[in-house]
Amino acid sequence: GYRSRAAYKLKQLDDLENVLSRGDTVVDLGAAPGGWLEVAAEEVGSEGTVIGVDLQRIKEFDDHDTVETIRGDMTADRTRDRVVETAGGTVADAESASEGGPVDVVLSDMAPNMSGEYSLDQARSLHLARQAFETALELLAADGDFVVKVFDGPDVEEFRADLDEEFQYVRATSPEASRKESSETYFVGKGRLTAPVRPGD
Ligand code: SAM
Repeated sequence: GYRSRAAYKLKQLDDLENVLSRGDTVVDLGAAPGGWLEVAAEEVGSEGTVIGVDLQRIKEFDDHDTVETIRGDMTADRTRDRVVETAGGTVADAESASEGGPVDVVLSDMAPNMSGEYSLDQARSLHLARQAFETALELLAADGDFVVKVFDGPDVEEFRADLDEEFQYVRATSPEASRKESSETYFVGKGRLTAPVRPGD
């Protein structure tokens, strides 16, 4: 079994959209308790690398030595810099590289602490999704993939339009495993587009 039922959502997303491959470097944002990390570790195999980040401490994995974890807040620059460094880039490189960064896949299942007031929780969810998107743009290699959860609401179409500009295509899916919490959608951005390198660059 997996550490969380959420693991099955990632399995379904991956079956549909084929985001995880052998040897990939994967960054998973909002990774505690670690179900997605287990699925990602299985899919990337011993040649791959999986980096998980969460506000909460993530218990070590006895059976997956390819997983590294970082405890921190993804809305803080300091945490984002640590993720970039752990993924094998430098902050300056990642920002300036026209070929993109060192990571094949960025995942985000981040969700806010629920207040119970939907409009507030939804706004916080979208904020976390946008933070994940910015991190993905810093980290992802050309052609890399991005998976992000967001609670349905008024500004989500605008977010999707922003994603559309950065990927070859974007799909919205609600995995079977998450249908009961039907207010969440996962966007899958396939194939990060990067600026073509001009001669002389
Ligand atoms: N995908 C995980 C799994 O399979 O075990 C479940 C993730 S859970 C739905 C959402 C996580 O997002 C929580 O563990 C929460 O601590 C984390 N989170 C929320 N805001 C965050 C932030 N600002 N930075 C890092 N993690 C955050």
